[in-house]
Amino acid sequence: MSTRTTTAAVIGGGIAGPVTAAALRLAGIDAHVYEAYPARADGVGGTLALAPNGQAALEIIGAKDALAAIGEPIHRMDMLVASRKRFVIPAVPDQGPLLSLHRADLFRVLSDRAEELGVAFEYGKRLVDVREGPDSVTAVFADGTEATADVLIGADGVHSAVRALIDPANPGPKYTGMLSFESISPFEPDLDPGVMTFAFGKRGYYLYWRLPEGGTRWGVNMPSPKPLSFKEIRQRSNEDWMVRLLDVYGDDAPGGELLRRTPPNTLQASGSLHLMPPVPTWHRGRMALVGDAVHAPSNSSGQGASLAIESAIELARCLRDIPDPSAAFVTYESLRRKRVESIAAAAAKTNSVKAPGRLAQTIMPIIMPLFIKTAMNPEKTIAPIQRHRIPWEASAA
Ligand SMILES: Cc1cc2nc3c(=O)[nH]c(=O)nc-3n(C[C@H](O)[C@H](O)[C@H](O)COP(=O)(O)OP(=O)(O)OC[C@H]3O[C@@H](n4cnc5c(N)ncnc54)[C@H](O)[C@@H]3O)c2cc1C
Repeated sequence: MSTRTTTAAVIGGGIAGPVTAAALRLAGIDAHVYEAYPARADGVGGTLALAPNGQAALEIIGAKDALAAIGEPIHRMDMLVASRKRFVIPAVPDQGPLLSLHRADLFRVLSDRAEELGVAFEYGKRLVDVREGPDSVTAVFADGTEATADVLIGADGVHSAVRALIDPANPGPKYTGMLSFESISPFEPDLDPGVMTFAFGKRGYYLYWRLPEGGTRWGVNMPSPKPLSFKEIRQRSNEDWMVRLLDVYGDDAPGGELLRRTPPNTLQASGSLHLMPPVPTWHRGRMALVGDAVHAPSNSSGQGASLAIESAIELARCLRDIPDPSAAFVTYESLRRKRVESIAAAAAKTNSVKAPGRLAQTIMPIIMPLFIKTAMNPEKTIAPIQRHRIPWEASAA
């Protein structure tokens, strides 16, 4: 296994997949994306915020301008405790704003850019198995078709099939105990657009920000003991879900008002929230994992998509500069594991305070100023995360 990689089969057309494929094309490697869904995901999904490090990584594949056109800057982030105490989260002074994006717009921009660079996409291709040879690897899809390439990259998300094929002993995702819903309310709290508020309500966590065009986008992470599939969520009506949401958030301000004023037919479910515990085996032979398939932090980190993009580009850099794919994957893991696992570990701690009990509700407003000064010192916490840049021009060898 020493010849240079020339072809790659990328499994998954979400965020990591198109970015990996685009970066591989820039590295001179032919990349093909195979996505399980029957069509491009245009027009589906909720919103996510892309951090400065993720934005900078997308600049490498030439997606910066397209990104600016679809993103809405978030200039300030606040924490709201017990509906009354508001704290400004210190920002990193030399970093730009977060960009709030519709997931569907991001998919479109990334897929368009990858196609411009010569990446081919095939839909309705659910990977179910692989066959490994000494010089190639063959993806086997549920529709009975196959595709062979020098390497196979698993960018197939938190429920990754490739992860189990690489090592059946790899862990599966862990449910965080929360379901996610979002929508837009006509109610407008007295705040400028561009301020995102993370609110610790009486019985659950939610966030909201006013939209420049009017209205307020809100999202909830509602405690729920059991994870539910999208099919199970859809078995209940939106009106029924709204009643449950109001039961949890109805007494919060402004959460209750935001929800009460939201037409139930606009409610959007983002599903059960999962994270990935550390994955022991990131690659084997000619196969490797990228994105949520190998390092999905809790959504509290606000870094899932940004880390997926960084890893995608770092993986392509390693395959560009190191001829033997398994050696390239070893370098890739050594460049990424420590960073992604430390960010995931910090976010997991935040998860545990998302549904504070009555005592914590009383204590939080008192200890928060000290907490912000010490544990949330941006130079020690967010700055190393947001300032990270992939040295694309430098050799990874
Ligand atoms: C509610 C919520 C809010 C979030 N908010 C943020 C945020 O604000 N900021 C942030 O940075 N991150 C956020 N994230 C995390 C972010 O969405 C993920 O980290 C990111 O989508 C990971 O990209 P990915 O390409 O690795 O996986 P995915 O986006 O999940 O894409 C995986 C793709 O693989 C396909 N696939 C799956 N199995 C197969 C198969 N067997 N064969 C072929 N294709 C397959 C899937 O259909 C999918 O298209 C949030 C996540 C959630 C759930």
